[in-house]
Amino acid sequence: MKNRFHTPTFMVNAALGGSLSILALGGIYFWLSSSTPIEEQVTNNSPSASVEMTNDESIDANINTQDITVASPEVVATLKTDLLTSEYIAVGAVPTETAADIQEPSDIEKMVTVSHGDTLMSLLVTAGATRSEAHGAITALTDVYSPRKIRPGLDIALTFAPPSAPVTEEQAKERNVGPLRAMQFQPSVERIVKVSTTEGEDSKYIAEEIQRPLTMRMARSTNEITSSLYLAATNASVPNDIMIKMIRAYSFDVDFQREIQKGDSFEVVYEAFYDEDGNLARTGEMLYGRLNLSGDDLQLYRFTPSSGFTDYFNEKGQSAKKALMRTPVDGARLSSRFGKRKHPVLGYTKMHKGVDFAAPRGTPIYAAGDGVILRANRFSSFGNYIKIRHHSGYETAYAHLKGFAKGIRKSKRVRQGQVIGYVGTTGRSTGPHLHYEVLFNGRQVNPLGVKLPAGEKLKKADLKKFKVEQAKIDKIIEELEKPAAIAKLETN
Ligand SMILES: [Zn+2]
Repeated sequence: MKNRFHTPTFMVNAALGGSLSILALGGIYFWLSSSTPIEEQVTNNSPSASVEMTNDESIDANINTQDITVASPEVVATLKTDLLTSEYIAVGAVPTETAADIQEPSDIEKMVTVSHGDTLMSLLVTAGATRSEAHGAITALTDVYSPRKIRPGLDIALTFAPPSAPVTEEQAKERNVGPLRAMQFQPSVERIVKVSTTEGEDSKYIAEEIQRPLTMRMARSTNEITSSLYLAATNASVPNDIMIKMIRAYSFDVDFQREIQKGDSFEVVYEAFYDEDGNLARTGEMLYGRLNLSGDDLQLYRFTPSSGFTDYFNEKGQSAKKALMRTPVDGARLSSRFGKRKHPVLGYTKMHKGVDFAAPRGTPIYAAGDGVILRANRFSSFGNYIKIRHHSGYETAYAHLKGFAKGIRKSKRVRQGQVIGYVGTTGRSTGPHLHYEVLFNGRQVNPLGVKLPAGEKLKKADLKKFKVEQAKIDKIIEELEKPAAIAKLETN
């Protein structure tokens, strides 16, 4: 469900025609409300007034309540009217009409989605606007938003007047709507852009911009791991962005393939931004993470030392970052380990001097550490190949790449985590994967086994400041753990 937290939107594109039943509407509402967390009333006086987002039961309870509220007779009636006149409905544009208003022919709502190669002009005309209406609306729009910034994927809600009666079949074929009355879209979660017509004789288009104030609240998720961290986090409704941040932060310390066991658990605390209706609009930073692996707690606190580089540190002020990453690619599956093996292409036993990570073609590959590129070109059976020199005698190599990231070439300096290329299957290779080598003093070592040089340890003033920040975060967690937060949600 991609709308889960990048939310636009009060707009549903339901190309279901006239056959849409009230039952189906119920389904749409369920869909809407199930993407609608969590808490409506919040006290603003404390940043730690918060929501336990993880409790599945309480979220279910919330869905039930909302389901009942939205399925009120007026709302259904309004929607039905719209469906009779259009194959599209825009739920957000549903006016709060009284029963008397519904008798008149109502405006026609259309939802269009920008595709590659579309201009706003072509979109509007295709949807039924005349060229002069489209021109008027676009000219007005320019006051608040550049039409050139419109990107594929953007949903635009259009409102047309009903067609002027009587309409012959021939006319209806040409244009089944009246004049364009309004256009609305949401370039970001915080911002709505709207073009509408003025009332009266000299009607013209005017544009306005509506800022949606978002409220930040801390959210906490925790769950036991039964198979993978990814699954456990998904089941606890951890937003995708936060999951990625968590996996990145731990990727230096934890080999997700081998070290995660049944019975381990995780906890994550992060910033969540809600719109006025209480919908999760977007997430912010991950403040804290805890992985409990075989009884050991690995805690990480977000902190910005005087160097200015924000990072995650354990409770002792040791950076989570190592000089090198063990797994320089996201979401990959370890497909071949370091050591002797039967070569999949050549057939005989050969020393495998790196590790292979199977990942879809095009998956970004990161520089495992800060360093300088020694080569980035075609290299015999390795196909497209990159080698980086790091400090303290370490080098890393990456093979079978589909291609190189922009600007990646010999002598170029790269930072840890920077994208350098993409997974492919060039050279002698049986399928898309990354062959990754770590070299120490010129010899390949096992990337998963080698003891990696440690990252920064906070000292003096930084350590002092870190302890203050850590206490602050601990206090937030304590508040979030209080059963009151859950009880409040359940009675909502
Ligand atoms: Zn390999």
